[in-house]
Amino acid sequence: MKVRHSDLVNAGASKRRLARQERDARRGRLGRRRYGDLVKRLGMVVRIAFEVGCIGSPFGLEGPLRYGIRGDLCRQGWTWTDADLMAREMMDDVFRALRITRPDWNEGQPEWVIEAGTLIERTRCVRCHAPLPEGHHKYCSHLCSTAHWMWLNRRKEASGDVAVMLAIRSI
Ligand SMILES: [Zn+2]
Repeated sequence: MKVRHSDLVNAGASKRRLARQERDARRGRLGRRRYGDLVKRLGMVVRIAFEVGCIGSPFGLEGPLRYGIRGDLCRQGWTWTDADLMAREMMDDVFRALRITRPDWNEGQPEWVIEAGTLIERTRCVRCHAPLPEGHHKYCSHLCSTAHWMWLNRRKEASGDVAVMLAIRSI
């Protein structure tokens, strides 16, 4: 059987139409107005958390918010897949409304900053401020690196929990 180019184009278009219909159905299930309110509220949480420095990037709460929304929808009888898609769409709309674009892969690499010539070389350990031994660039020892990482994680979890609770209490 010969597949024509127009068949492929049509298949793509009907796939997109189907995806759009499914998306609309999900939003309809939540209630359009409620959807809009939630996007607005989540946007506020993200903006405030970023402004007060709870998160170092506007995307800092994306993960916790997504699984918070998903969990709440699951408890309301949604399937995991539907709930996850809804949560993802909601967060995409939040970032769109805030006019935040995701950095590309290159911008996420440490070399990006080095190339720009803005990297300031450390001479002391991030955690204990002892002079760095030869070959160490951030921490004096494995112990300091682990301890600092755990401390950062605890702080992230704590600030994330507060914001997530505020944001999803009303879902
Ligand atoms: Zn140290």
